[in-house]
Amino acid sequence: MLDFFTIFSKGGIVLWCFQSTSQIFTPSVNALIRSVILQERSAANNSFDHGSLSLKYKLDNEFDLIFVVAFQKILQLSYVDKFLNDVHLEFRDMYKNELQEGQVFGNFDFSSVYKEVLAGAEEWARLQQMVPKQMRSFEESLKSKKTVSSMIERPHEQKQKQGKGGKKKNAFEEEKVPELIKVPDSPPLSPKSANGELDEETLAQNRMRLAQKLGSPNAKKKAVEKQKSPKPKKAGKAPTQWDLGGTNKDVANLERTKDRPSDSPNTPNYDARLIGQMVGGIKDLEVESSDEEEEEEEESEVQMQVSKEKKSGGMFSIFKGLVGNKSLSRESMQPALEKMCDLLIAKNVAADIAKKLCESVAVKLDGKVIGTFDGVASVVKNTLNESLIQILSPRRRVDILRDALESQRKNRPYVMTFCGVNGVGKSTNLAKICFWLIENNFRVLIAACDTFRAGAVEQLRTHMRHLNALHSSEMHNGQQMVQLYEKGYGKDAAGIAMEAINFAREARIDIVLVDTAGRMQDNEPLMRALAKLIKVNDPDLVLFVGEALVGNEAVDQLVKFNQALADYSATDNPHLIDGIVLTKFDTIDDKVGAAISMTYITGQPIVFVGTGQTYTDLKSLNAKAVVHALMK
Ligand code: GDP
Repeated sequence: MLDFFTIFSKGGIVLWCFQSTSQIFTPSVNALIRSVILQERSAANNSFDHGSLSLKYKLDNEFDLIFVVAFQKILQLSYVDKFLNDVHLEFRDMYKNELQEGQVFGNFDFSSVYKEVLAGAEEWARLQQMVPKQMRSFEESLKSKKTVSSMIERPHEQKQKQGKGGKKKNAFEEEKVPELIKVPDSPPLSPKSANGELDEETLAQNRMRLAQKLGSPNAKKKAVEKQKSPKPKKAGKAPTQWDLGGTNKDVANLERTKDRPSDSPNTPNYDARLIGQMVGGIKDLEVESSDEEEEEEEESEVQMQVSKEKKSGGMFSIFKGLVGNKSLSRESMQPALEKMCDLLIAKNVAADIAKKLCESVAVKLDGKVIGTFDGVASVVKNTLNESLIQILSPRRRVDILRDALESQRKNRPYVMTFCGVNGVGKSTNLAKICFWLIENNFRVLIAACDTFRAGAVEQLRTHMRHLNALHSSEMHNGQQMVQLYEKGYGKDAAGIAMEAINFAREARIDIVLVDTAGRMQDNEPLMRALAKLIKVNDPDLVLFVGEALVGNEAVDQLVKFNQALADYSATDNPHLIDGIVLTKFDTIDDKVGAAISMTYITGQPIVFVGTGQTYTDLKSLNAKAVVHALMK
């Protein structure tokens, strides 16, 4: 039995509503609107669960209406889809004239038709049950939906995972993987060396292309310089050798995994040009667009303006009838959708997310009337464009400078925790963020809570010295801007973080940056330890650090980190990941899909983007620029 049914316009006006219980349904419908419809997500099977309720919806894109039913989740109602389709058609037929004229405030006397349609659908379900069940065809089975690629075993991916610290599968686990098709180690999208890292030549080329897009003369110069003097090849993450004496030649460069025999924080000879570059908010990631592209953009803006005016019934609505109209159907959109889906996957968007995005575009456009002169492909592309920008635009703005000032006023340190797997750039980007904070006059304490990896504490100590050399105490009224709180190795990270926060409170240090040990997302003991650290210390911001390079793998890491924080924190209201640091953006050329996948999965914003190995290579995400790179 249906508990609730409503028809409302996309503008939020309820046209008709029925409810059979006294339960209040507003929060569930609001949750559906917030989490699915506004977020441009297509819920699986157009259904959405909220508390004990199951909701199903249907969009009418021609008249901008939404039809929603709600029923108890435990019920298996086989007629809901049919009911929604039928009731939708009946409503449209009955009120076509009013809807065409945009009259959503009319008196929609729909009760008797509603009851009739519902009774018809229930009767249909009853008859269906009496028909003997036929075996599902292959096309209807779940197996048919598996892609061939999901069944292919790719040895290089396995190697890459293990190279990144993944534990080797035991014999039992290996047996569980069905060995359907074995293909030779096919080259990944960007060529990588045996240890899974991009080779130097590709990295240099990618940097060069990014630099050209960024368009800044500095960036271009940097890329050329980097190409001229390629780094010596590394075999995986080389053991760090820390030399704390000698002369400091290159404080600005953050590559700390190579020997630097001449580094000396005592006689700094740093690049003073860096100072002052990061004052204020983080600058946006920019992608240069050619004149031709700009023209195209202008054109599409005009088109969007036209379609907005059409919607709002402006002067263009007069012409609507004159230009004629055609209605979009799934069949007519299919080729364009498939092309878009392939494009997204080629740009490193996780395959199932690319499919969901295209499905949401199909749902949004199905039945929509477009002008005779609008091409289907361009309508699909524009709609996908809008959806992608919507996904990347943060629902919640993370304003660290403002929040840190607020904490300062309350005499308590603002605490940020960094987590992620090994080698993604946690410490390096923590140091860049630290530089940005001291540029903005905040005093920072780095809590060395990676008590696991040899060299982790020394790496942070070196950063601290370099940062203090760049921003000397003379520049800040005799105050040392960065300090390190360290207790060596093997100790409880949660305890060290707590001591560091207390120390910062007493010493009136504004911000604590907590570096944590890299851990694989499947390592239960380490994930429990991270959940404990976050639960005990309740930081203001938990940032997940992930590489832009890895695409689907980053999504898996992120989902499992979030899940572990929820599972192991033993509270009803666990502190999950608040934001993402997307690193190594300079190495991916235009394969920017990881940004989409990561925000789509968590709904959390990308707070920082790492674009290189100097302290100033830190940007904030510009949704338009990323979508531009994605869609070209
Ligand atoms: P952690 O193990 O997660 O702390 O990783 P590290 O901070 O030690 O960084 C691993 C490697 O990635 C180092 O060689 C860094 O210089 C490099 N790295 C970090 N961020 C970036 C970035 O944004 N761009 C590039 N090209 N390299 C980066």
